Amino acid sequence: MKIGVLGMQGDIREHIQALRQLDCDTQIVKKLKDLKEVDGLIIPGGESTTITRLMKLTGIWDEIKEMAKEGFPIFGTCAGLVVLAREITNAKEQETLGLLDVSVERNGYGRQINSFEAEIEVEGLELPVRGVFIRAPIITHVGDDVKVLSSHRGRPVLVAQGKVLAATFHPELVKGESRIHRLFVEMVNGK
Ligand code: GLN
Repeated sequence: MKIGVLGMQGDIREHIQALRQLDCDTQIVKKLKDLKEVDGLIIPGGESTTITRLMKLTGIWDEIKEMAKEGFPIFGTCAGLVVLAREITNAKEQETLGLLDVSVERNGYGRQINSFEAEIEVEGLELPVRGVFIRAPIITHVGDDVKVLSSHRGRPVLVAQGKVLAATFHPELVKGESRIHRLFVEMVNGK
């Protein structure tokens, strides 16, 4: 089993490190052919507009939509969640993959200066996770098929739908933290 991290832009290395803690085989996915070699894909945090543009340029955008129909597992953090969402309420012109039935507001908590950290309770985990929110999106609506695994200030911050997992925060930025990545690895393993 090998997990890919989309290597367009954003905190790619941090995701690789979190996966290595779980003894996972990893691969940075930069080209369409790389996608064929992995059993699941992480879309990192970064800048959703840039990630989108580069995904389209490489052909990964269209391919991933097809693969998702066949149940290919995808995990997005922050900008990755924005890319996966059904719609961006405050940037309707920004195209999304639409693989996760949520509406999001980009930079929902404000600008960089309004970034924050908080202890996040996650369903199934005994101890809270340190949630790092950096220009994070706010999920304003979730569809019926979306499972909310964690909320903060009354807003969903970790959600799952089928084989898609997404967080508005950055578990990859907390040193030694790999529990959310483990959830994804279990999803890939079909548990
Ligand atoms: N605000 C960014 C975006 O929408 C996401 C920020 C992040 O990933 N830390 O692209």
